Amino acid sequence: MAHNDYNKRSGDEISVHEAHALLQGSNGAVTVIDVRGAGSVLGHIKGALFIPSEELHDRMNRLPVEKDSTVLVYCASGRLSGTAAKVLKNMGYQSTYSIHGGFNAWQTLGYEVVTGGDFTPVQLQRYSRNILLEEVGIEGQKRLANGRVLIVGAGGLGCPAGLYLAAAGVGTMGIADFDMVELSNLNRQVLHTSADVGRMKTESAHDAIKRLNPEITVITYEERLTARTILDVIKDYDVVMDASDNIKTKLLLNDACHFAGKPYVFGGAVHFVGQASVFDTANGGPCLRCLFPNSPEGDTGPSCDEAGVIGVVPGVIGLIQATEVLKLILKIGKPMVGKFFYYSALDASFNTMMFEKNPACPLCGEKPEIADLLSGDYVHQCAV
Ligand SMILES: [Zn+2]
Repeated sequence: MAHNDYNKRSGDEISVHEAHALLQGSNGAVTVIDVRGAGSVLGHIKGALFIPSEELHDRMNRLPVEKDSTVLVYCASGRLSGTAAKVLKNMGYQSTYSIHGGFNAWQTLGYEVVTGGDFTPVQLQRYSRNILLEEVGIEGQKRLANGRVLIVGAGGLGCPAGLYLAAAGVGTMGIADFDMVELSNLNRQVLHTSADVGRMKTESAHDAIKRLNPEITVITYEERLTARTILDVIKDYDVVMDASDNIKTKLLLNDACHFAGKPYVFGGAVHFVGQASVFDTANGGPCLRCLFPNSPEGDTGPSCDEAGVIGVVPGVIGLIQATEVLKLILKIGKPMVGKFFYYSALDASFNTMMFEKNPACPLCGEKPEIADLLSGDYVHQCAV
């Protein structure tokens, strides 16, 4: 394409120079839309929204863009965006222009291009479907890369969560477990394979996560976290995910997260039912003890290791928890704080119960009885 072709302008089109001038003087009032889809994360015009052309109609209806504001749309060469501009005009965006020559012309003419920050082209491809989301973008992906989650338990909840959090690009994952892989685990603990039976779950989980995403740092704790050790472990993490199968560990995590000021993503699954919640007392939310103020005397509930559980249920709950972990790291959406989520597979029902901080809560209430971890009731944990 000859250079002066870029100055051409017809109908809904605008030249690269004009587009640049408009953006310079716009103070953000001009909306720029990149319709190229996944390729756009490799390099784009500053401030552009990534909206693949096939999603344009649905997404624009949800954006707070005034119908009389100026909208610039571009693709790689200017052809796809020409069609997109027509779609937008039909939707009522009268001042919509397609950038003639597209991103290629913009780049050739030497105007500023935003690339993927510190991400390599390979990383940008791996995470392109995350980055395309306006709620994530490059900034969000950086948050994930810098994010640190501790998963307590490499079993039915921890395995699916670990897989998806690694796939999403959460940069550092701590995994605490002190069990070995048994054949009876394999109906639900999807990080482990038949060949892993007899290995430590932490080792097996480490290897599986590295196979999926070699960039993730996996830190393993082959130990039972106790009231004496846990604060030292969780201090290095942004979020703690409970993938344990017994109430004493859950209470320990609840209390430790309260004292450490960390969000605690709770989950449980047995038989055909599961539940999940997020406890975040540092931000005013209720805790596990607000919900169950009378802590159990002894561990009465059955755990997965003793009771039956259909593998898909911890899979569902583990992924609900992983979703909450991602939201907390990305700081998007509304965390499941003050909500108790209950899933019954046999009834195909999802229920959400709202609950509030309990003023009489022995941990986070008005007159707390639990002053530190050593005064909690999880010191004598039962072996599972
Ligand atoms: Zn509480």
